[in-house]
Amino acid sequence: MEKYLIPLVPGPVSVPKEVLNVATFNYGSADLEPEFLTMYRETERLLQKMMNTKNHVVIQTGEGMLALWTALKSTLVSGDRVLVISTGIFGYGFGEMAESIGCEVKTLAFGFDETITDFDLIEKAIKDFQPKMITLVQNETPSGTMNPVKEIGDLKVKYDVPLLCVDIVSGLGGSCIDVDGWNVDLALGGSQKCLSAPANMAFLSVSEKAWEIVKEVAYPGYEALLPFLKAVETGYFPYTPYWHGIAQLRKACELIFEEGLENCINRHHTVAEYCRGRIKEMGLKLYPLEDAICSPTVTAVYVPEHMTWEKLDSELRLQNMVVGGNYSCLAGKVFRIGHMGSQANMNLVKEAMDILETVIHNI
Ligand code: PLP
Repeated sequence: MEKYLIPLVPGPVSVPKEVLNVATFNYGSADLEPEFLTMYRETERLLQKMMNTKNHVVIQTGEGMLALWTALKSTLVSGDRVLVISTGIFGYGFGEMAESIGCEVKTLAFGFDETITDFDLIEKAIKDFQPKMITLVQNETPSGTMNPVKEIGDLKVKYDVPLLCVDIVSGLGGSCIDVDGWNVDLALGGSQKCLSAPANMAFLSVSEKAWEIVKEVAYPGYEALLPFLKAVETGYFPYTPYWHGIAQLRKACELIFEEGLENCINRHHTVAEYCRGRIKEMGLKLYPLEDAICSPTVTAVYVPEHMTWEKLDSELRLQNMVVGGNYSCLAGKVFRIGHMGSQANMNLVKEAMDILETVIHNI
């Protein structure tokens, strides 16, 4: 299906016309024109405001994974100790990525359906392992759960851990993010989730401490952060910047601030609560455990016992509705309703829940 009438995939989400429209004409060369730098700076400023940070926000061409690789490759070297706090697929992913760089990884593995609550365990691990970096996912999209970041940030400060690296890819714009208040050194985001822009831009906030380490490591690869340190000042980027992508990202941020960030976050919470209520009413089971924090941007639900994921997906598609499947150990067992960004829309989700209810009761 090329287009979805009822799109509820947890990224890439449906892109509003206003965002599509700013990429329908030819911009000049981003390497040559000062207007590009102005737009880049404005976009950075809007992202800083959304993330609650005074740190620089580096914006790259590419999707969310690029920000994750950029952060790790630019600050870690073989032998560095990385403490991975994981409650899901992206949490574990950090560990695999750090291992591929040659790091010594210790993983605190919580259930995929859980939210982190055992801070004593984390404190002990930090004390014993003395990591250079702690990694955490704020919103585990495959599990439909959120994790507290502030408590981990407090422990990072208490034990003087150099770097706290947090994936906010599917939380930013749909939940409160407080990069400076949480003491996050590297906060990693992407354009295709709650920001409702195409899957073409990645960005990350970089603390002073992180820049120091980036300079020491001096990683030279394609996804290196170091060339961005002075890029805005000098106008020299490591590769030709993507003006259309920046324009769309800026427009997407502007739309959020036109609505009001708080209103936008509240909209996500209201729609998510409604969605969870309807799921329970129709007799389906939410994937997160009772005491987990359910994500305001994506709802993860067990595939009903009387049908397969493939059957559910194909029946929903017959109604022009598309939700997300899942990966790894959750594949075929848990499906996801992505009410993020433009899709955190009460009318859309009401219609979707009516269709889902009919489909599951008619098979
Ligand atoms: N982190 C999280 C939590 C995600 O959900 C995703 C995408 O689903 C990513 C990172 C990677 O983003 P992208 O698919 O844009 O590369």
